[in-house]
Amino acid sequence: MRTSFRPILFAAILFAALFVLPSNIKAQPPQEVMNAAETKLALKKLNILGSALYVAAHPDDENTSLLAYLSGERKVCAAYLSVTRGDGGQNLIGTEQGALLGLVRTQELLAARRIDGAQQFFTRAIDFGYSKSPEETFAVWGREAVLSDVVWVIRRFRPDVIITRFPTTGEGGHGQHTASAILAVEAFEAAGDPARFPEQLKYVETWKPKRLMWNGFSRGGGGAQANRSGLISVDVGAYNSLLGKSYTEIAANSRSMHKSQGFGSAERRGSALNTLQTIAGDAPGADLFDGVDLSWRRVPGGEAVGKILEEAERTYEPENPQASLPLLIRAHREMSKLPADNSWVE
Ligand SMILES: [Zn+2]
Repeated sequence: MRTSFRPILFAAILFAALFVLPSNIKAQPPQEVMNAAETKLALKKLNILGSALYVAAHPDDENTSLLAYLSGERKVCAAYLSVTRGDGGQNLIGTEQGALLGLVRTQELLAARRIDGAQQFFTRAIDFGYSKSPEETFAVWGREAVLSDVVWVIRRFRPDVIITRFPTTGEGGHGQHTASAILAVEAFEAAGDPARFPEQLKYVETWKPKRLMWNGFSRGGGGAQANRSGLISVDVGAYNSLLGKSYTEIAANSRSMHKSQGFGSAERRGSALNTLQTIAGDAPGADLFDGVDLSWRRVPGGEAVGKILEEAERTYEPENPQASLPLLIRAHREMSKLPADNSWVE
């Protein structure tokens, strides 16, 4: 099972940063060589094995503060699954419409993710403009086809936690919003069921995430799905002292990439509480990742890797980053001994 941005890839990026490769051969323009603080943060992330997938319908539906918080503060692999590419919206900066606008918005989402540190996924569904109900949406999309795409992303990315932007009950307004939540709920179960979409199992294994949460609209949760047990609060306004920014500031920069929609978000600091409501799976106690092992111990034989990476983080010298290379090479060797079917080394 292979995923696209697991710790080993961070290791590769670190090597690139430490060897100061010319920017024209690096994988992710426009990000330049990591500075010392970013390298330290990347080292910390190498030692956290956890993942969260955010699901909604369109470019701009995503909660960029939460994605930035998950990636930077919790240091897990975070991703946004936008069911469509936003082909049906308006274009405030050019003449592209329909599929071409979908291409523009795809690039805007990728640019946003380069800032907030999350990954980006899509399905085959087309944004055909406003729809009043999920039934109308599914009639256009083809429910099983798009569901299979959501299941594929879950089986490939293997999130510990899935978070929906919208509830399944219609308060999200747009039928495509509600449909995205319904698909997330169905896919949460289907991804772990070998009888569903068995043709995918040639390439990926089944996966059962720990829990599915709804990112409620208001501080107090609420809505027709409110079930006060399993409701947790997350402060996405936390401040990252390495980056010198709070996650809401990072999110404002990320969100401002939605240029075809004329977005320009103001940066702000301070507490920003979000509520998360359990929809399926095990309800957490107080923390989003309760019951999930976020260490290398979750990989059989992985403990040795974790210890080396811990030492690499502890002994990292900002003015002499290359001194970390022997430890990173040792960690890399240990990773190559791990079972081939683990999803954390590629
Ligand atoms: Zn939307």
